Amino acid sequence: MLSLQEAQSRVLGAMGTTEVVTRNILEAWGHTLAEDITAPHPVPPFDNSAMDGYAVRAADVAAATPGGPVRLRVLEDLPAGYVSGREVGPGEAVRIMTGAPLPPGADAVVPVENTRAEGWEVLVLEPVSSGENVRRAGEDVREGETVLRRGTRIGPAEMGMLASLGRAEVPCHRKAIVGIISTGDELLEPGEELRPGKIRDSNSFSLFGLVLEADAVPLRLGPVRDDPDLLERVILENVEKVDAFVTSGGVSVGDYDVVKEVLQRVGEMEFWKVAMRPGKPQAFGRVGGRPLFGLPGNPVSVMVSFEMFVRPALLKMMGRREIFRPTVTAVLDTPVGRKKGRTELIRVVAEWKEGRYHARVTGPQGSGILKSMVLGNALAVLPEEVGRLEAGEEVTLYLLR
Ligand code: AMP
Ligand code: MG
Repeated sequence: MLSLQEAQSRVLGAMGTTEVVTRNILEAWGHTLAEDITAPHPVPPFDNSAMDGYAVRAADVAAATPGGPVRLRVLEDLPAGYVSGREVGPGEAVRIMTGAPLPPGADAVVPVENTRAEGWEVLVLEPVSSGENVRRAGEDVREGETVLRRGTRIGPAEMGMLASLGRAEVPCHRKAIVGIISTGDELLEPGEELRPGKIRDSNSFSLFGLVLEADAVPLRLGPVRDDPDLLERVILENVEKVDAFVTSGGVSVGDYDVVKEVLQRVGEMEFWKVAMRPGKPQAFGRVGGRPLFGLPGNPVSVMVSFEMFVRPALLKMMGRREIFRPTVTAVLDTPVGRKKGRTELIRVVAEWKEGRYHARVTGPQGSGILKSMVLGNALAVLPEEVGRLEAGEEVTLYLLR
């Protein structure tokens, strides 16, 4: 048997990266940045007002109080988007809106609440210190600063940052296209009527969602009957369209073995027994130069195997720096007992309570209990050598959501 870590590192070692493409910001969501992004100018680009009020010389209003206000002459009205043509001299002010550039001569802004307007004059009722209510040029991003690193996922904040730096288009890795094939004579589509001996194909749907969640593009190519020629045809017809294949079913010992047979025929494949539960039988290799992940058929095994092998592999393929789910340490609220010898991935509900994570087993943990994945939001990792953990003991979690 192969350890989970060994199997993972073999898979990751075999991954290439998708090519770099240019994407408009609006299309870049979920892509991985392929270059560091350096600021061509400061953000904000100029000193500007953080409040609606009056741009003043702080020294002028140092003695202002409600009972003894300071009277200033208002030179002009300055909305956001315009530049003042006037310099603020002693005894003068500019009525300024949030975001408007601070006029020359002024060094602070008195909020409008602390003033009383009287025509083209203003009474200032409170003092301000120099720099108060002013947002400095570059206080968000300095010119030349590397704000976004290659390998970063482009999400909402990154999209906004790219826009504020004037980057309408960015180099990123193309999203991987993943062909999903579930196999089995027993499989029906969700819309079909149940018939004796048949079940509905759930794996290609959970895989579809998992591929989307990994920021890749799913292509559902199944379900395919346990017919070697049919399976071979589906794989070969799509090999040019995809960057990777994920199959489910047909790789375990004592199986009808069509998947194994076909994969051996059309690709260079290895069949592993991985010391993990669920998900012991795994196939991995290449078909027409594309990586193929042959995952086991049980609904939980397929999802957990995807988490352990396919997700990090796809993220690596798409140039991502962080390819693993975040881990946290949690205290177990329910004991877990089992036979040692395999890394076990237990579906748990993780909850932040009283200053730390707690983990509660979702219920029955059979590899066919898909509800455990519906209820669980994390996988608790029991290392190979650990047999039993009592309530109150610590466990490592992979956070899934
Ligand atoms: P296999 O690895 O093909 O022997 O499948 C193992 C178990 O998973 C069997 O009980 C199958 O019926 C079930 N199974 C296989 N493929 C799927 C699928 N696509 N959806 C739901 N269950 C499946
Ligand atoms: Mg099968």
